[in-house]
Amino acid sequence: MNFTRNDNKIILIDGGLGTTLHEYGLAVFDDPLWSGKALVKEQELLAKVHRDFVQAKCDVILTATYQVTVDNLMNYHHLSNEQAEEIIYNSVKIARNVIDEEKAKCYVAASIGPYGAALSDGSEFNGWYTDSMTIEQFKDWHRPRLAVLARAQPDLIAFETIPSKKEAEALVELLKEFPNVKGWLSFNCQDTKTTAHGEPIEEAAASVCLKSPDQIIAVGVNCVHPETVVPLIKQMNKMDRDFIAYPNAGVTWDPETMTFKNEGRLIAPFIRSYIDAGIKYIGGCCNVNPNQIRTIRDIIDSYSSYL
Ligand SMILES: [Zn+2]
Repeated sequence: MNFTRNDNKIILIDGGLGTTLHEYGLAVFDDPLWSGKALVKEQELLAKVHRDFVQAKCDVILTATYQVTVDNLMNYHHLSNEQAEEIIYNSVKIARNVIDEEKAKCYVAASIGPYGAALSDGSEFNGWYTDSMTIEQFKDWHRPRLAVLARAQPDLIAFETIPSKKEAEALVELLKEFPNVKGWLSFNCQDTKTTAHGEPIEEAAASVCLKSPDQIIAVGVNCVHPETVVPLIKQMNKMDRDFIAYPNAGVTWDPETMTFKNEGRLIAPFIRSYIDAGIKYIGGCCNVNPNQIRTIRDIIDSYSSYL
């Protein structure tokens, strides 16, 4: 896939990797590496989750690196720098192997969560640390993992659940150090108007597009409530860029109990409104499992052919 804007094809992204691992029996919610725990300890289970998403016929699967960094692998699993880098590098291989085994036409996006994700306390949902960090500090912190993932040659980098304009700007500046790498950037928002940290979403998205005219192929939101997607994306309408949205199932993370509040529900009923809003990259985040992705595939296929 060349990820051009010349066709109207909707690209289906997978669902929530961490929550699906949890559903399949791996305790990830209280683990400092989240889904990355499977990268270290449960590679077969990780491959099974990737496989179930591939068999649900998504076009892109994400690696288990959202909450994983070289430092936290060294700290929590007592690995050397070299071993930690190898684990991160292998995340792309594990995903790619599943796709090859399934002989599927599917692409690999390497997940990069925000600084707050590595704090393992839900900080990505408010970005409280943003004001105490500089752009250069963000770049320095994000560089080692991005360098390893770029070397592993995924099809894309997924900068995801980014809570603030400043961290987003740092990430797109950092991406310029890897000129052959393309990616998407999706913000986290807790309402219909602003990033989780409080900047108008329109300004935050515009800044990403301005700073990265070529490398960022899509801008949007993820792990937001499914009802907020259309109003958020509509505020980006002036931007000459593809849009991406992969909401959670309407759940909120409770850092006190380390669980999701609310039962959550299906995002499938919202999918047609996303296509109508001009969103090209559509998928699911937390509590969206392979069965739901399969349903979304059917909706996209039937609705796209009708349009
Ligand atoms: Zn999520």
